[in-house]
Amino acid sequence: MLLKSGIDSSWFEMKLLLGYLLKKEPKYISFTENLNEEQRNIFANMIQQRLQHCPVDKIIGEKGFYKYDFIVNEQVLSPRADSEILVEKAISILKKLPTATILELGVGSGCLILSILAELKTITGVGIDISQNALDIAQKNVQKLGISNDRIKFYKKSWFENDIAEYLTQDAPYDLIISNPPYIPTKEIADLDEEVKNYDPLIALEGGEDGLRDYYRILDIAPQLLKDGGYILFEAGNAAQLQSIGNLAEKFRFSNLGIIKDLSGNERCIILKK
Ligand code: GLN
Repeated sequence: MLLKSGIDSSWFEMKLLLGYLLKKEPKYISFTENLNEEQRNIFANMIQQRLQHCPVDKIIGEKGFYKYDFIVNEQVLSPRADSEILVEKAISILKKLPTATILELGVGSGCLILSILAELKTITGVGIDISQNALDIAQKNVQKLGISNDRIKFYKKSWFENDIAEYLTQDAPYDLIISNPPYIPTKEIADLDEEVKNYDPLIALEGGEDGLRDYYRILDIAPQLLKDGGYILFEAGNAAQLQSIGNLAEKFRFSNLGIIKDLSGNERCIILKK
């Protein structure tokens, strides 16, 4: 049924769904699994949801990202392997700064900032998101990863609010800002996969006419928040966007330390330094 409805990775996805249901590692799921009646009903329901193009992580409520499993729902952007490179780069920078404080703009599930805090036990973080529903999920992930509450603060805030820079200076200056803001150009939203268009929050995707609206704003407020020598790590959609962000950042007097590729070989992340 999944294959017929055009879901290419149906075998793998079925292993993920059954693995969750049977509490087994997906790789140990075989062609012959015995399900009791209750499990059969749940499984049939999962398949129905998947046929409606609900992504697997949002059916089971969990997504593996970097080294951890994150709680997800339709209020947060699904963590994507594409973003893991930001976590790796942040960790390599922050290893040399054991007392650092970092800021994430647009926390969502918390997969970026919480992966970093889980890995580097002496640094602290602040995260903002416009969505209280997203922050509620991020807070659950703080507990899930066993991060102590005194290492992370979340604020329900938009970076477009007028007082955002003054507001965030209460915990500033930061050593590093990390952000995967919405970057899909408005007119491309309609062409996204249904899994994304119907199950990720639009507010986490839509980045204005050129997809760059949020980078302009963040680059405008960041100098007041960062230490001298502090870093910004941005995710973006493609090489052209990264190029534009690099050019813009130079106008705001940041140095462009370079662009790095994600695990699929696409240019995904830019590193800026104040
Ligand atoms: N990577 C997401 C996608 O292509 C978009 C995430 C974002 O806009 N930050 O669907």
